[in-house]
Amino acid sequence: MSSELPPFRILVLNAGSSTLKYASFEGIESVSQGTIECKEQEIPSAVESLLKGRPWDAIAFRVVHGGSHLIAPTLITDKVLQELEQTIPLAPLHQPPAIAAIRTVGDLHPHVPRIACFDTAFHATLPECEKRFAIPDRFYREGIRRYGFHGLSYESIASQLPSISQRAAAGKTVVCHLGNGASLCGLEHGISRYTTMGFTPIDGLIMGTRCGRLDVGVAIHWLRNGMEVQTLETMLTKESGLHGLSGGISDMRSLVANASQDPRCALALDMFCGTVAKEIAAAATALGGLDGIVFTAGIGENSSVVRQRVIERLAWLGAALNDEANSKKDLSIHSQSSSVEIFRISTDEQRVIASHTVDFLRQSHGESHRDA
Ligand code: ADP
Repeated sequence: MSSELPPFRILVLNAGSSTLKYASFEGIESVSQGTIECKEQEIPSAVESLLKGRPWDAIAFRVVHGGSHLIAPTLITDKVLQELEQTIPLAPLHQPPAIAAIRTVGDLHPHVPRIACFDTAFHATLPECEKRFAIPDRFYREGIRRYGFHGLSYESIASQLPSISQRAAAGKTVVCHLGNGASLCGLEHGISRYTTMGFTPIDGLIMGTRCGRLDVGVAIHWLRNGMEVQTLETMLTKESGLHGLSGGISDMRSLVANASQDPRCALALDMFCGTVAKEIAAAATALGGLDGIVFTAGIGENSSVVRQRVIERLAWLGAALNDEANSKKDLSIHSQSSSVEIFRISTDEQRVIASHTVDFLRQSHGESHRDA
């Protein structure tokens, strides 16, 4: 019987600037996962070690930027790889490690399908007024616009919301993806209508080492005074954010631990939480209302202090936490009197990628009988 066929064996690779995260799946059931600390030049050997030992039906990749055209899960061909190479300037920290992993798999296993899933794809539904910058019209047509990122994470949350809250799933919900990289997404019925990251993942919230929103006049000032473009990029992506404000600490656990003794850490924490709260309000304005707030990713899922500081600042709109539920890390953390539902939900980007890959394999095999 066809149902006895084994599920697809899928390896998901998420290559970053200092780590290679991996997860293996049978269908969409997670089998194993882990993180390998490695620099970009070490990615080929790390990927090679992961590929050993078992045959794979597909290898799937998280790719941060799909540019203007790549908005659906895509089989990676030479042409697609060329298109991805062209997006490197749009996400110089993220694209090169992903491309290195993709190339390594192609070299070692040229016949295994490679599938790319894009963080930008989820935001294809942004309305034009949220996509555009107020710059001359012709640049929009050249692709200079807000793309938005963390889309696989937002897709994971949107897919979980219906089983958690009908109001948040069907209504206007702001998801706060707070990790080393951080952004917000305003969802309306699970669809992206507002997001804080822009043309690149530098924009928006204050992040671990990225500055977030910055007056472009500052960059013009530095360039006019002779700063090299590479220095500017390094400053804004690797030396700014929490790291820059605190004098070297980008890890939220250390910032919270040091905030009572070190005013720089206290300021960094305060600015981070304040910016998140202000952006939730901006997202709610763009959505025209607010039914739910979701916290996710490393800081969002784990830091009760950050959640508390953010929601305190939104007391004016009636948002209120249940302090005990917040500190116990419950799923539902709003108080009974809160005007807005508030949740702490674990994101699972790898599972989203595995699910897209199963769909892709089913379609391309022309079969619907293999287990998901
Ligand atoms: P990324 O995937 O963008 O590298 P993560 O989602 O893994 O980032 O989040 C990393 C952040 O989560 C770090 O700032 C780290 O300090 C924070 N974090 C992890 N665990 C905790 C915790 N228990 N309390 C507070 N912050 C935490």
